[in-house]
Amino acid sequence: MIYLYYTDRFQAYDFGPEHPMKPARMMMACKLMEEMGVFDDRKTRLVEPCPATEEDLHLVHTLEYIEAVRAEEPDPAFGLGSQDTPVFPGVFDASRLLAGASIDAARRMVAEDCSAFNLGGGLHHAMPTQAAGFCIFDDPALAICVLKERWKSILYIDIDGHHGDGVQQIFYEDPDVLTISLHESGKYLFPGTGFTDEVGSGLGLGYSVNVPMPMYSGDEEYLLAFEEVVPPLFEWYRPDVVVAQVGVDAHYSDPLTSLNLTLNGYTKMVGRIVELSRKYAAGRMLALGGGGYNLQVVPVAWASVLQLMRDEPLPEYLPPYWVEFFINLAGGEPFTLPDIEMKAGNETRKRISAELRETLDGLKKLHRDLHGVF
Ligand code: ZN
Repeated sequence: MIYLYYTDRFQAYDFGPEHPMKPARMMMACKLMEEMGVFDDRKTRLVEPCPATEEDLHLVHTLEYIEAVRAEEPDPAFGLGSQDTPVFPGVFDASRLLAGASIDAARRMVAEDCSAFNLGGGLHHAMPTQAAGFCIFDDPALAICVLKERWKSILYIDIDGHHGDGVQQIFYEDPDVLTISLHESGKYLFPGTGFTDEVGSGLGLGYSVNVPMPMYSGDEEYLLAFEEVVPPLFEWYRPDVVVAQVGVDAHYSDPLTSLNLTLNGYTKMVGRIVELSRKYAAGRMLALGGGGYNLQVVPVAWASVLQLMRDEPLPEYLPPYWVEFFINLAGGEPFTLPDIEMKAGNETRKRISAELRETLDGLKKLHRDLHGVF
């Protein structure tokens, strides 16, 4: 069984009309899934989430920080009220609902050995005492804490265009959580971290893996990096359960990043995560939405994630009723699969390829020296 977490109450997580993170993307994704008939069979069930309690949030966040969010006032000491992460009336309840969905998903996995996908999850920049980068509560980390009640080894993989810095930091000294993040290099992009030499510390030494991708990396570069790094880590770590942040802001059309991934490359990568989860973790996988700032891309991307988890065909043919609904709301056509091919010019590709080679060789050497993996 795959539980899909979405409710129209997620729409309350809204930083305003000028903000790039539009809650409509989740609604459109869920509507597309519905129109595709994913809830008509017994493989997938839509679940209404409950907000996280203070006790739940305290698994990761300090009580002072939770109180600061509850106050709903700008507070720079906690990263609240910045241009990226403004406060608004109802921000506390909206944030704890998204977090509650990931926590509930993890609890169901613990109880039923199922998989789940939270469209409102993946807020990977939040820190124990700090809001950052559109993220208030770190739902991936909260879900991981719940999964740890039953399982020993948790593999977190993050393919969002940005580094999964919050999740990495929270488990930086913890060997029971292996974090892997592929993202546009921090040399160019927020949050400015996620370099190969961030490998974990203390008991967690070697359990943080970062693949900073060169600017304008596309399908070829992403799939090469993924295949060189991710399968050997699964083979070495043998996780009990997989948490995947499936942000789609590495897409070439995304306004916030400078990457060239297409929906073809994105779905291939997600497909591999699903396969590896089946091979090594008995198919237990928690998918969390994350970034994605082109409304025309997110619904098809996330509907594809769900179909891959369901082992069903990708949505190459979009239901006409949904397309009409989408155009009325978004003003443009949705992207479809197969996506166009994107390739940078020859000179750029040479530069990208050289930079990536150096990154991959460096990262493999570091981890080989630590654990003999690679
Ligand atoms: Zn992102």
